[in-house]
Amino acid sequence: MLDDEGDQEHDVEDLVDVRGLPDRRFWRVKWRGVNPDGSQRWPDRGPGDGTSDYFWLAEEDIGVGCVELQNKFWRVTGLDRRGSCSGPVGEHRCLWCNRMLKSAAALKAHMRIDCVATIVIANSCSANWSLKWNTRDS
Ligand SMILES: [Zn+2]
Repeated sequence: MLDDEGDQEHDVEDLVDVRGLPDRRFWRVKWRGVNPDGSQRWPDRGPGDGTSDYFWLAEEDIGVGCVELQNKFWRVTGLDRRGSCSGPVGEHRCLWCNRMLKSAAALKAHMRIDCVATIVIANSCSANWSLKWNTRDS
């Protein structure tokens, strides 16, 4: 795992949560080790806004070495790995880009205006979903 400078390896100790669609997962990562000041890398104290700076990483960024951790996560939690994972009630997180919004209305506006894609979810509990790309310019 590369850090922001792209020159240092970090070890993923565990995967503790998941969000997103089956083909576009975001994982909450527990890092092994301590920060330079001696504090634990875990738990994070970030705003929880879903950015990668605060322990949420796109599946493609956590590396193939985490497949076993993923398998363990699905087994232990009993969640459906083929389903879309939207998080607890009251969490307004975009399933496509993992950004956290303050309200359902803000999330709706984000998906309509800000996000890279408009998501059409035919069935929120299965892998039966499809994407429709925004056609706006810019
Ligand atoms: Zn989004």
